[in-house]
Amino acid sequence: MSPLLKNYDDVTQELARVCQECGRTPGSVQLLAVSKTFPAQDVEELFRQRGHLCFGENRVQELKEKASLLPKEVQWHLIGHLQANKVRHALECAQWIHGVDTASLFWRIQEIASQMDASPRLLLEVNVSGEESKFGFTPQEALALAREASSRTLQAPLVGLMTMAPLQADKTVLERVFGGLRNLRGQMEQLRGVPMPELSMGMSGDYPEAIRQGATIVRIGTAIFGHR
Ligand SMILES: *Cc1c(COP(=O)(O)O)cnc(C)c1O
Repeated sequence: MSPLLKNYDDVTQELARVCQECGRTPGSVQLLAVSKTFPAQDVEELFRQRGHLCFGENRVQELKEKASLLPKEVQWHLIGHLQANKVRHALECAQWIHGVDTASLFWRIQEIASQMDASPRLLLEVNVSGEESKFGFTPQEALALAREASSRTLQAPLVGLMTMAPLQADKTVLERVFGGLRNLRGQMEQLRGVPMPELSMGMSGDYPEAIRQGATIVRIGTAIFGHR
């Protein structure tokens, strides 16, 4: 078995183990394989040999190139910062956008999605810890957007929230960041009166804690593909 398939199997087993340990079904956590910087052949191998369908990229251009080489069934998640002038390109190939980090980007995506008759699923990136990360809404800004959005019909549904924990954070910090995102999601659902099922949180170094705190999507690169 190739190292890639072995890593993949190890991660899916560990994910299932953590789910069982905290009383969740493995199907309630979507494994997003973050293939950035790795070749399309690696994506193809996981697709063919394991039937894996969801892949994450952080650059629009790279995502577009890989998407053009792979079968249509593959679902692409854009997880990085998205510049306003690349929204159209992003909507041509990404079904999910995790890094919506300002209100103006959110509304721009709505406008362009309407023009293109596309309905990508959106997640707001929130900077819960208030440090480290350059991008993301503060929790207050996210609530303000939820209020604004509650009176509107959205072309691109707002399905949840995404965050990144500080690197090498200890368990207390991870609990605060991931638990904080979950609480904020609850507040936003109340404001909007619309369910926001997705919590995109947890990467190679911290996904078990994210699952314990309610993650529905974990974004795993290194543990599957190796070091970049
Ligand atoms: C690269 C990246 C990941 C994956 O990180 P690993 O530590 O390699 O698992 C997850 N989320 C985002 C936003 C990324 O850019």
